[in-house]
Amino acid sequence: MAINVLGVVGAGQMGSGIAQVASAYGLSVVMNDIKDEFVERGYQAIEKSLGQLVKKEKITKAEQQAILGRIEASTSLEDMIRADYVVEAATENEALKLKIFEDLDGFCKPEAILSSNTSSISITKIAAVTKRPGKVIGMHFMNPAPLMKLVEIINGLATDDETARTTRYLAVKMGKTPVPANDFPGFVANRILMPMINEAVYALYEGVGEAKDIDEIMKLGHEPSHRSPRAGGFDRTGYLSGDSGRKTGCGFYAY
Ligand code: NAD
Repeated sequence: MAINVLGVVGAGQMGSGIAQVASAYGLSVVMNDIKDEFVERGYQAIEKSLGQLVKKEKITKAEQQAILGRIEASTSLEDMIRADYVVEAATENEALKLKIFEDLDGFCKPEAILSSNTSSISITKIAAVTKRPGKVIGMHFMNPAPLMKLVEIINGLATDDETARTTRYLAVKMGKTPVPANDFPGFVANRILMPMINEAVYALYEGVGEAKDIDEIMKLGHEPSHRSPRAGGFDRTGYLSGDSGRKTGCGFYAY
């Protein structure tokens, strides 16, 4: 399915970043929020972010203008009728997202795909409020969207193959690397990240290190693949028996 117009619902941190990337890769974007001032704030964030790229001579002033020119402002969800593909990036609130998807289902073209950038809400549950559950999928961009390569792609129970294929294609077209994850709370990225952040806070609380040093240690010293125990076994026996990852040639992967 050809995607020419991308609808983005929510012009906050993520929505504006997603709109920026989509437009930079040549798509027309309809960027929606509930108030003019919120869309305007999103637009200004994009302008500023592109301004940095102009300063670093990564894009020209003309390219900045062209990217901004492909982004249309919207405060009515009905405008999503123009979208071939929608990425919902509104506030992380289940009731709010269910209502948005119910409305999107009514307003959008029958063939349009509806995706959510939710970090934690079930895609299956979101899809169930629509009459097109096969065309609903998770497209989880990382923050900041213009810089981060990863997009987690989450199929709901009913998501069809064509929707998954089109979503992968769209992610690649936007310069991203799509990686599948299953529909569990937090998917993969946040399921692992959140306990890690909690542990970092405990480490700070217990005085294991200063905040800046904890950050530096994790940035410079984190290479989990060296310590991955035997594939298929989440206990520590793999490590104890020597299947400790890249060094021994055996771990979660055969190296
Ligand atoms: P944000 O608060 O910056 O932006 C949310 C925007 O949604 C706001 O501008 C708000 O006005 C708008 N909004 C609320 N109700 C709306 C409605 N009915 N219709 C249209 N717009 C509406 O939040 P964010 O950080 O951009 O997060 C958005 C989504 O992206 C959430 O689902 C969040 O879990 C997910 N996410 C966030 C991050 C992150 O690090 N910030 C990373 C990945 C995914």
